[in-house]
Amino acid sequence: KLSPEHDQPMGTWSTEQIRNATSQSVMMTWAPGKAKHNTPLITHGEGVYLYDDQGKQYLDWTSQAVCSNVGYTLPESVLQATLQQMTQLPFLYGGLGLCETRARLSQLIAEILPGDLQGMVFPSSGSEANEAAIMMARRYTGKYKVINWYRSYHGGTANSQQATGDFRRWYGGDHVPGFVKAFHPNPLFWDLAGATPEERTQMALNMLEEQILNEGPDTVAMVQFESVIGGGGVIVPPPGYMQGVRAICDKYNIVMHCDEVMVGFGRTGKLFGFQHNEGVIPDIVTAAKGITAAALPLSMTACRKHIMEYFEDNPLGWGSTYQAHPVAMACAYENVKYLIQNDIIGHVQRLAPILEDNTRRLAEHHPCIKQYRCIGLFGCFDVANPDGSNPQLQHTAIDKAFVEYKKAYTANGLIGLMRPPHLHVAPPLVITEDELLDGFERQDKALYVLDDALGY
Ligand code: PMP
Repeated sequence: KLSPEHDQPMGTWSTEQIRNATSQSVMMTWAPGKAKHNTPLITHGEGVYLYDDQGKQYLDWTSQAVCSNVGYTLPESVLQATLQQMTQLPFLYGGLGLCETRARLSQLIAEILPGDLQGMVFPSSGSEANEAAIMMARRYTGKYKVINWYRSYHGGTANSQQATGDFRRWYGGDHVPGFVKAFHPNPLFWDLAGATPEERTQMALNMLEEQILNEGPDTVAMVQFESVIGGGGVIVPPPGYMQGVRAICDKYNIVMHCDEVMVGFGRTGKLFGFQHNEGVIPDIVTAAKGITAAALPLSMTACRKHIMEYFEDNPLGWGSTYQAHPVAMACAYENVKYLIQNDIIGHVQRLAPILEDNTRRLAEHHPCIKQYRCIGLFGCFDVANPDGSNPQLQHTAIDKAFVEYKKAYTANGLIGLMRPPHLHVAPPLVITEDELLDGFERQDKALYVLDDALGY
């Protein structure tokens, strides 16, 4: 027999009921479970704001996990198409039947991607999209190694977690063979006295090629990079690098994959982040988050024609029950149309200089900020220890200071992802100029607390 509380309609539980049930049974994932006691109880959203049970308003300063790209008031067309699909055909297993939504979304994405990126698989999460990409590359090439950057994040499933280069890989342990790590070419990490940016790029490419030669080109299936590293600090490849990777991949018959899970669908001021690199067409592109603006779980693994043709005669051998989920695809279809027809990318390009100016302004007057980077509506501050020690290693002081900073951030009405020593700025792409300036004012106030907490 169910407890009588379940007779209350959804939306009518008191704060106490919700907190009690949460305490008893809710588990957190990326934080220890007791973090739930300090996590706000969110009741609803509107525009670029979220609201909690106390009526407090928060400006969403990182589009949550850089995904709620159109905020919380969804376009009417998205709501209608989703409800219509839910009513007409709530589910169709991808291998049992075809449907109009799948055909339309495939065609739409193929039209907006450059080159012959025309084959589409639609898993549910970014991790799964990357699993599909790894399977595609391995089966297409008959090879198995995957090269990734340190600092990249590719997901939480076995292969995608092993492909991840940052600290989150270690949670799972290094148990999955076949993944090789390379260094990102960003000049931040290359202390080459006197070298020009072009020389550094060439050096990074030489190292990558040397790595491939030492691994054995006949074992390397794929090079899998984030077009712009997101969670690891908004790090953009220097000019010429991606073109060089493309040439190396062609030379050794290696699949080039751009992971656009975080930056795809407009975040950087281009539809896809790899489009900042003139002439580069990857063999595989994965995306998620922005495809539905996170309103429903859907991701995509797009591949070029030659790869698609290979799988016309061979099974991919990977899938999930929810691959090509009709309701999620209906939501994605209208969302992507909305982005294009309302020139959301143009809006991002118009706001980008304002984001950059304000990021610079804050970096200049807060001593706790060592440097910053921006592209489109995506910014990142790097927080530094006053003694100059490496925050990646000496993070205890920074972690403690972030507790204080987070309180100030919340008190000033911001909500967002924090990944010390990085502070991301990634508001919904539909944010207005006034809302953006207001967000920086709020962050400015919180940063004084971080300066103090770190002892500046
Ligand atoms: N790749 C990148 C670049 C990401 O940022 C993420 C998630 N933050 C993923 C893959 C994994 O996506 P998901 O969490 O949807 O599995």
